[in-house]
Amino acid sequence: MFWKDKSLEQLNHSEWESLCDGCAKCCLHKLQDTETEEVAFTWVHCSLLDCSTCKCSDYPNRLELVPNCLKITYQELEKISSALPSTCAYRLLYEGKELPSWHPLISNDLQSIHTANISIKDMAINELEVDSDELDLFIIEDEDF
Ligand code: SF4
Ligand code: SF4
Repeated sequence: MFWKDKSLEQLNHSEWESLCDGCAKCCLHKLQDTETEEVAFTWVHCSLLDCSTCKCSDYPNRLELVPNCLKITYQELEKISSALPSTCAYRLLYEGKELPSWHPLISNDLQSIHTANISIKDMAINELEVDSDELDLFIIEDEDF
């Protein structure tokens, strides 16, 4: 279990990438309260996301195509961890928590993220179908998200 034996900083590239559970929650638009700085996720996803598979349709070029796409690195975690969903493996490990039973590294099953209803598979709306001024209508109220 490399994620227990090493610190996040010590992980190699493939270990780091394998921590991503494929939930696609980080591909949802977020809104931030200007006073409290609290971040709220919405049910509206980036247009590059294939919501039926939770995969980015152009992962290699995503940062050029979508300037606000999050590149999660160890160096960035301190700044961005609170803007990641509470189930995100990077956030969990950064906060000193365990990976949950549905994480593919624990379950050895890439589908467990979907069967446990942690991913947003087939649940979110493409940003192209939503007026950007109305994102607040799609805020996710679940505090455990
Ligand atoms: S929220 Fe975290 S675990 Fe889920 S897809 Fe994004 S980076 Fe991966
Ligand atoms: S560009 Fe790809 S990885 Fe980035 S937010 Fe959009 S769908 Fe997700």
